Amino acid sequence: MYEGAIQDLIDELGRLPGVGPKSAQRIAFHVLSADPADINRLAGALRKVKELVRFCTSCYNVAESEQCRICRDPRRTDEVICVVEEPKDVVAIERTGEFRGRYHVLGGAINPLEGIGPDNLRIRELMTRLGGGAVRELILATDPNTEGEATATYLALMVKPMGIAVTRLASGLPVGGDLEYADEITLGRAFEGRRAV
Ligand SMILES: [Zn+2]
Repeated sequence: MYEGAIQDLIDELGRLPGVGPKSAQRIAFHVLSADPADINRLAGALRKVKELVRFCTSCYNVAESEQCRICRDPRRTDEVICVVEEPKDVVAIERTGEFRGRYHVLGGAINPLEGIGPDNLRIRELMTRLGGGAVRELILATDPNTEGEATATYLALMVKPMGIAVTRLASGLPVGGDLEYADEITLGRAFEGRRAV
């Protein structure tokens, strides 16, 4: 198609999630015609995210220090942990303003078809946290789809014998959907109406 650097950029952009060949081409030509200062800022942001951002050693949310902002906040309670699949789900739940506990980010959901089992997720780390004895309630906020439900069921079976209340977000969330796409009112209501499992 094109030669050299512009085709390399189109190829790299095309590998990003949600970027089709046409978008990749449009972005590449935008970069070509944009102000060099703007592109340097973009390149710097790409480099910095790989250099600076790491995972919180407590909850595995994204962080720029040992612990994330939420784990460092002394005003939040240690008695409730909300389990989510990805860091973007933390952002979705924080937007509701309904939750003042801590999080645990699994890094995905159980998906046998893709070879993702419990050992591939941060479930062992969650069990270690729960073993500390401070947690009274575990909220399962995995996605309302097949993989998310399977993960929630698995965790409920593991955690209930520990004497910790296990709850799941209430219905009202679109079935088969992704938590991050729920609007904050729906997600906030699902949070308030969570039920024991
Ligand atoms: Zn954290």
